[in-house]
Amino acid sequence: MPSFAPSTNIAELRESATIAVSVRAKAMRAAGRTIIDLGAGEPDMPTPAYIIAAAHRAIDHGATRYTMVEGIAPLRERIAERASRSHASSIAANQVVVSTGTKQALFNACFSIFGQGDEVLVPTPAWTSYYEILALARANAVIVRGARNRSFRVMVKDLREAATPRTRGLILNSPSNPTGAVYSRDELTDLIALAHDKGWWVISDEIYRAISYEGPATSVLEIASSLDRVVVVDGVAKAFAMPGWRIGWSISSVSTARSMTALQSHTTSNAATPSQHAVLAALSDPVAEKAFQAEMMAAFRRRRAAGLALLREARADVVEPAGAFYLFIRVGPATPNDPAPGSRFAARLLETNGVAVVPGAAFHAPEWVRLSYAASEDEVLEGVRQVVAALRV
Ligand code: PLP
Repeated sequence: MPSFAPSTNIAELRESATIAVSVRAKAMRAAGRTIIDLGAGEPDMPTPAYIIAAAHRAIDHGATRYTMVEGIAPLRERIAERASRSHASSIAANQVVVSTGTKQALFNACFSIFGQGDEVLVPTPAWTSYYEILALARANAVIVRGARNRSFRVMVKDLREAATPRTRGLILNSPSNPTGAVYSRDELTDLIALAHDKGWWVISDEIYRAISYEGPATSVLEIASSLDRVVVVDGVAKAFAMPGWRIGWSISSVSTARSMTALQSHTTSNAATPSQHAVLAALSDPVAEKAFQAEMMAAFRRRRAAGLALLREARADVVEPAGAFYLFIRVGPATPNDPAPGSRFAARLLETNGVAVVPGAAFHAPEWVRLSYAASEDEVLEGVRQVVAALRV
């Protein structure tokens, strides 16, 4: 049997830990176990009916062919028009590249901008794929830890301390996966000013911006005066409960958009055509959008409050999420004998209590686990009860 040896391109690549948890939970379910899956990073609501109906209509009308690599013009125009409302100057459609999910938009950006030996500051804990995408681009992710009492949000001084002459960029994610932290306008203004002074690129992942509990989360578009060295990525997976449609996009300067389009032309070409039409519909009905998001937010608020109450009662160390839909919980101190207590806890919780959460090691926070409350209220409550019980063992 020929054995497979991965190339140097992927030799160091780690499987996505968030996806691995879901796979294990699904396998256990298939084997007949009752599993509460709080590992998933996707809203549990169905995609709104007005969007599904538009997708059906588009397919019936022949939206089944290739499109321009960077996406259909009306969708890029709509995205540009919405982004322009947040930005000092108007954004044009040729600054928008539509991709197969926000993940691809991030990949396009990191792969086009960073290369061998470039250092990129990653406020940590952060979403698992940033580190791996940077590694694929042969760049070095530099972990910058914020303070626990600031929900891990980093400050200018943290970035200054981590910077070297090789620093080329900064990845921001507000609201954050996994902590739910949201940067204030003032905080973001300071970080963007520093990046501007230093000539760093800023990649701002704003996929959770619609899910913010203490007023609207600020977009980097509202702060950056120019998009010369800024790429904002966003998508519909969370805000419109459309994870499986695989649509995300980037907003950047025209020349950056051109480079990312060239890259995408050799990887996936255009994002799926029916999905592009579905997203055009999603972004074109403000009344339906508002109604859906109000309903989704009400559900998230209830679950967040109920989960937090149980964890606080048990005196667990939990980050109060200002956005997104995760509870980030500390489950133990790392020691030389037990360097990743979060991984051990998550494995035990799944096998013994039948509850799936994601080990914090996936986010470079080995003492923590992430619990997603994008599940029914009953499941969230039962899952949190099991976490509390497991914390006592
Ligand atoms: N960025 C963050 C912070 C995420 O949590 C996720 C998905 O979980 C993504 C990007 C990927 O989004 P998409 O499904 O649009 O590729």
